[in-house]
Amino acid sequence: MSTNRQQFEDRLRTLRADYAATLPGKLAHLADLWREAFERGAAGALAAFIQQCHALAGSGSTFGFPAITNRSRELEQLLRPMAEAGTPLDPAINARVTALLEDLARACEGGDAESGAEGARSTPPSIPSSVDLLGDDGPLHDELHAQLAQFQYRVTRFTAPEALLDAIGRRVPAVVVVDRDLPQVRETLDSLVETIHARSFGQSQVLVLGSEDSFALRLEAARANVQAWVTKPPDMGRMVDTIDRLATPAPSEPYRVMIVDDDADTRSFIRFVLEQRGMRVFTVSHVDELLDNMREFGPELVLTDLYMPTCTGLELARVIRQHDEYLGIPIVYLSSETDIHKQVMALSEGADDFLTKPIAPHKLVSRIASRIQRYRGLSALLAHDGLTGLLNHTTFKERLQHEALRADRQDSFFSYVMLDIDDFKQVNDTRGHATGDRVIRNLARLLSRRLRRSDLIGRYGGEEFAIVLPDTTIEDALRLLDGLREDFAALCHRDDTGGEFHVSFSAGVAQYPDFADIRQVHAAADAALYRAKQEGRNRVLARRSTDSV
Ligand code: GH3
Ligand code: MG
Ligand code: MG
Repeated sequence: MSTNRQQFEDRLRTLRADYAATLPGKLAHLADLWREAFERGAAGALAAFIQQCHALAGSGSTFGFPAITNRSRELEQLLRPMAEAGTPLDPAINARVTALLEDLARACEGGDAESGAEGARSTPPSIPSSVDLLGDDGPLHDELHAQLAQFQYRVTRFTAPEALLDAIGRRVPAVVVVDRDLPQVRETLDSLVETIHARSFGQSQVLVLGSEDSFALRLEAARANVQAWVTKPPDMGRMVDTIDRLATPAPSEPYRVMIVDDDADTRSFIRFVLEQRGMRVFTVSHVDELLDNMREFGPELVLTDLYMPTCTGLELARVIRQHDEYLGIPIVYLSSETDIHKQVMALSEGADDFLTKPIAPHKLVSRIASRIQRYRGLSALLAHDGLTGLLNHTTFKERLQHEALRADRQDSFFSYVMLDIDDFKQVNDTRGHATGDRVIRNLARLLSRRLRRSDLIGRYGGEEFAIVLPDTTIEDALRLLDGLREDFAALCHRDDTGGEFHVSFSAGVAQYPDFADIRQVHAAADAALYRAKQEGRNRVLARRSTDSV
């Protein structure tokens, strides 16, 4: 057993033991609540009792106590309709509840006897670096093997699903290519893919290769969580690109997940599972803290319980969606609600997915990861300009605002640059719009290649760009921009007729917080740009707060 796995199992065992230790206290509390509800007819106590049962139902099997889940769910299902209808509690109900509470106490003592719930099982994470190939071992597979070997992939070929799965149980491949035309695969694609994901702890990406292509097949593949689909005969170059993309996801920021659940056990379990997979997790127990925390943490997904004491998950989703900046954020319910009608209703209220407790760790991770992946893709599409791939105007402005806040917080500074291509109208007029577009793109490429990752580059308008250079003095910014100006002016552009030409740009620079807010720093850089144009173009000028106007 690898040390990772050992640590994982140890941690899980500790969590389970911690949970078991809290059970007697929880039971005593339940008994008190019930007495209050029954003997004094306290509606609040009854609601709290139901809420506690609900929480227990959710956490029980997650920690390997399925009997706790069953008894708690029975209690909840017995009492929730009565509470909702305001039905008085009679002695028959009391007898039933008391018996169920006794069963529940036995289930708590029984503990691990019924363990083996899928929630407690998992496969260790490891660093994938190879490709597994399941197929008929024919010429197509020879060629794919040869191509992949060129890119340093370790390829292992299988002709039977059992052998493949057996191997994945021992080491985790980055990508599994499954040939759907293999007779043993055809009928069982979804369960095969599910097993691959389970055994690899959601780490192996699955690419399906098939000679048929139809919406129904693709739907089947999508439902089975297949990451890519290639139709035969494949374009080998593109197929290798796809495998490359699947195998080496761009180095990215950890996924940020916000968990809203009033139950501490559920929170700690989910936090553990997600952090184990490198995600960043922020947990919230009181909904009134949610919005402040969202602003601060910037989650890319909100995972919320459906029933909480102060508000329901549905209400929570509505509140989140009232904020424009969160219109697109995925909201996922995690609940022990098994009533399909309530699930459908939850989804119609602006949530994106519904996960039912208990949920296996690999399933939780893969459902959340795929939601965030899609959200990131969409956000990137919305944040970037189509022609240049730079930040678009709106996003640039948002990031600029963040950068100013960061500078304030860290007592640092940045240089701000406005940049505009010289006499660009003439380029368009004499050489055509398409050529003009290429010039814009060339400048964008030069900027992104030469600036740091931490710099912000935005396409501010047509042939106008804005740049933020964090921790850069105005003198350094002038030097840097002047170097870029020279290099750009030296670039040789070609029009559609093969004619060569050169273009220059002018830029204005100002520093924050020399100018105290972003509106002023923008105006200052713009004024410097204007002066650069007036003084003859192809130059970079600065404006300081001490300059006379
Ligand atoms: P100056 O040196 O004063 O900046 O002169 P200029 O000609 O660059 O400035 P002006 O603002 O008069 O013209 C800018 C031109 O840029 C006008 C517009 O048609 C063109 N333009 C704006 N966006 C695009 C674009 O996306 N593609 C192309 N090809 N042209 C664009
Ligand atoms: Mg211009
Ligand atoms: Mg302009």
